[in-house]
Amino acid sequence: YDDRDGQIWMDGKLVDWRGANVHLLTHALHYASSVFEGERAYNGKIFKSREHSERLRKSAELVGFEIPYSVDEIEAAKQQVLTASGLKDAYVRALAWRGAGEDMGVASARNPVRMAIAVWEWGAYYGDAKMKGAKLDISKWKRPSPETIPVHAKAAGLYMICTMSKHEAEAKGCSDALFMDYRGYVAEATGANIFFVKDGEVHTPDPDCFLNGLTRQTVIGMLKDRQIPVHERHIMPEELEGFEQCWLTGTAAEVTPVGQIGDYTFEVGALTREIAEDYEKLVRS
Ligand code: PMP
Repeated sequence: YDDRDGQIWMDGKLVDWRGANVHLLTHALHYASSVFEGERAYNGKIFKSREHSERLRKSAELVGFEIPYSVDEIEAAKQQVLTASGLKDAYVRALAWRGAGEDMGVASARNPVRMAIAVWEWGAYYGDAKMKGAKLDISKWKRPSPETIPVHAKAAGLYMICTMSKHEAEAKGCSDALFMDYRGYVAEATGANIFFVKDGEVHTPDPDCFLNGLTRQTVIGMLKDRQIPVHERHIMPEELEGFEQCWLTGTAAEVTPVGQIGDYTFEVGALTREIAEDYEKLVRS
């Protein structure tokens, strides 16, 4: 990803893609002091752009720093880099972090907060699983308690176990891993929320210790518009056996059917397909 033509927005201006570098003593590289967003543009327009910019600023606040750009400035910067890319359908990655400077210990009050936005093409996140249903491994790692870490921030530190779990899942031939939380309830995948269908009703974990994804919120709205009951609640892993359908939601993942979790199998059913198609229509409307 580093060696290509193009431009990246960095600290207020567009810079050459290959020259968008930071110093080795960047605080974030050592201590995970960074927050980010994953967004998608469809037909040249970023879906829920403002909500993503607001969440980025909120994530920074939750991990203790302030992004030196307002939501309006972030919006303008995203549009600038998207236009410069010439792409209509694109993935947008906004990132803010504690940079290099006076401090090199755990404290970083004197270092600048920096920000960048890169845009590139990113097709279906789970490849052909989007059609036939993804296979998920169950991670041995648990989503941590809200008393351990700011669980609602989209912050780099929370992704350490995601990368580890996803690598382990891929080594077993799975597309992704599903986390249980610190209490043993079903939580989410490494970069997407999860939904289940049973007897015409939908069940999804209460996001009390992980990201309440924007796609998750959009899909819940779509289900409610269809008068389909949605239960946001604690789900025990034993319940997986009784669910008929399952899908993942996320900006990158969009709506991706799940065919298997561990030994449990699910059909890629009518509701899953309809929600996936409706989501596709909505983001492009
Ligand atoms: N959980 C995690 C851990 C994620 O990384 C993401 C992707 N941002 C999501 C859930 C889904 O969030 P969204 O729908 O806002 O992209």
